[in-house]
Amino acid sequence: MRRKLIAGNWKMHGSLTENDALLGGVLVGMADVKADVAVCVPFPYLAQAQARLAGSRVSLGAQNLNPNARGAFTGEVSAAMLNDFGCKYVIVGHSERRALYGESDAIVADKYAAAQAAGLTPILCVGETLAERESGVTEAVVARQIDAILAKSGVASLSRAVIAYEPVWAIGTGKTATPEQAQAVHAFIRAKIRALDAGVADALIIQYGGSMKAANAVELLAQPDIDGGLIGGAALVADEFLAICRAG
Ligand code: PEP
Repeated sequence: MRRKLIAGNWKMHGSLTENDALLGGVLVGMADVKADVAVCVPFPYLAQAQARLAGSRVSLGAQNLNPNARGAFTGEVSAAMLNDFGCKYVIVGHSERRALYGESDAIVADKYAAAQAAGLTPILCVGETLAERESGVTEAVVARQIDAILAKSGVASLSRAVIAYEPVWAIGTGKTATPEQAQAVHAFIRAKIRALDAGVADALIIQYGGSMKAANAVELLAQPDIDGGLIGGAALVADEFLAICRAG
């Protein structure tokens, strides 16, 4: 039986004051949450979040890493640095990084491998654009994104990873995939992995991401292959995020 994982992706939001209130608000409401919960915060706030979440059931994650161990990479952050701040998760391949920072499937695969080499659990984001969906290549796009990981790290690596299916057209747009649309792609992903390793496929957490909120979380999370959510905007409001966590 897979446990649900609800992870907040704060993106480039927050301040010391705002984070303190948000994390405090989440922590006070965790008593009746059954799902696993994580927050992926901006790099400068990792220390604050680590301290605030100490001893709680809320895990810490980051939103990006550099695949190199160290060196002359101005402005970058390594997996080991994330470990220093107690991160459990790191998001790789978010569509904003693919689109805005030119991250190719190969770069994402390098980041995924570097995260795992350091003992972090990558949350691998995959998903199609609206144009790709409308031209009927959703499965081909998602398969290509996953194949890059399989080629570099192998199927067994997915037993130490999470996949987040995030249709690009649903991210930050208020347009959510219907539960049926999301379930269809989740089932496709699981079947693709099952063809290689049934045990890995059955245990793999596949989150949905894309305008998930309290109002649609119950229906989405009721789908058999949706094992949680990667939450952007709704993760910035404690009560909204907690309501999603309770639906998990
Ligand atoms: C995301 O950025 O991963 C995301 C799902 O954002 P939102 O929930 O705001 O669509």
